[in-house]
Amino acid sequence: MKHVLKGDGRLGHDLDPQDRAPQDACGVFGVWAPGEDVSKLTYYGLYALQHRGQESAGIAVSEGSRILVYKDMGLVAQVFDESVLGTLRGHLAIGHCRYSTTGSSVWENAQPTLSSSDGGGLALAHNGNLINTPDLMARLPSGATRATTDTEVLTSLLARDPGTSIEDAAADLLPEVKGAYSLVFMDEKTLYAARDPQGIRPLVLGRLDRGWVVASETAALDIVGAVFTREIEPGELLTIDERGVRSRRFALAEPKGCLFEYVYLARPDTTIAGRGVQATRVEVGRKLAREHPVEADLVIPTPESGTPAAIGYAQESGIPYGQGLVKNSYVGRTFIQPSQTIRQLGIRLKLNPLREVIAGKRLIVVDDSIVRGNTQRAIVKMLREAGATEVHVRISSPPVSWPCFYGIDFATKAELIAGSLEVEQIRESIGADSLGFISLDGLTEATTLPAERLCRACFDGSYPIPIDRDNVGKFVLEAKA
Ligand code: SF4
Repeated sequence: MKHVLKGDGRLGHDLDPQDRAPQDACGVFGVWAPGEDVSKLTYYGLYALQHRGQESAGIAVSEGSRILVYKDMGLVAQVFDESVLGTLRGHLAIGHCRYSTTGSSVWENAQPTLSSSDGGGLALAHNGNLINTPDLMARLPSGATRATTDTEVLTSLLARDPGTSIEDAAADLLPEVKGAYSLVFMDEKTLYAARDPQGIRPLVLGRLDRGWVVASETAALDIVGAVFTREIEPGELLTIDERGVRSRRFALAEPKGCLFEYVYLARPDTTIAGRGVQATRVEVGRKLAREHPVEADLVIPTPESGTPAAIGYAQESGIPYGQGLVKNSYVGRTFIQPSQTIRQLGIRLKLNPLREVIAGKRLIVVDDSIVRGNTQRAIVKMLREAGATEVHVRISSPPVSWPCFYGIDFATKAELIAGSLEVEQIRESIGADSLGFISLDGLTEATTLPAERLCRACFDGSYPIPIDRDNVGKFVLEAKA
């Protein structure tokens, strides 16, 4: 039988593969629930978190004496089927869907990672990106690992000492780990969860009738029928077993949640710090209308990420809201390389204008962010060709001018259009009649959190955890090897 390679999911939800939207650094899920089908709960949890990573997926499960891991490249629904899930039996499980931020997108780097020592096994799943990985690697005996990811290094360090419990090992190690990490990990009997002292990436705890769930977003709790209990605190380590949930603090909390989760990364039906993401995005649209008003006939979103802010803009401005672009959500999920002719269609593969809605109208197009500008340039051109008389672009985030080192794979500063151009130059470059970005203060206010509790570094260059540029980068371990 011919072996068919699975795709790497790199043609995810981007409208233009050459102008990729910011990519998240994974979704994590964990469940401790004797008597439940934990691998299926994890599968559905990962399904709800698929937007956070589309390159690979994996589940680790244990029935009390042995950890089994199954992982592969591709989307959750491509990696798992009924027969695979049927072999993953136990009372606790963790799962992961990956977008690579440290280490290449290859099978070996898919998660959960697994380490076994005399003391037993340890499986670990990580959302975020560490910024002192080479320092951590140096703590391992030479030759102990051929790890190319920050997550493998962490797994090896946690599992190393058979004389120390995993809980104590984590409490000792985590204060030394720098960067963003929302972790779920497990040995044969116990589920653990931990969040970095800044709480950059989200992580929440939920309750099932017969157990507990930990997940990157509240939307993943909803899908498995778990009731939201609370957020895992920055600097907190949870241990979950038959004795219940135990909390241990390994560092003082210095909350700096990622502002970009509100803009784009998190699902609209997720709640962060008590505030629904959809409500925040609609409010950003209202503020955008106040900050950048313009006379027009119709407000349309770039589907789907621009939709909530476009609704807010229309509500505040009184200009009708409409659907001017239709998105084919499925075409980009193919793993067939497009032919040259198809590739030249570019964004038209994914978006098609509704001519009868657009023709003769002055349009306001609302999008969530501008990375390189290619997508917006193509959209403006497409709308003009469909008969729009004016195209005004409004963006529900401030200009992204700085790279992220905490788990979001933006382009480099040189590739970010706002890294070198002013707003008027960007307007000219994308060919819009006018261009307006929400202010950083406006976006921050919409979250209802004070600025000091947020990471806003990709917008203002102020990094809450100091960066040593020699020790960061996607291929930092591969380069040093
Ligand atoms: S730099 Fe931007 S994307 Fe990265 S954690 Fe901070 S706010 Fe989020």
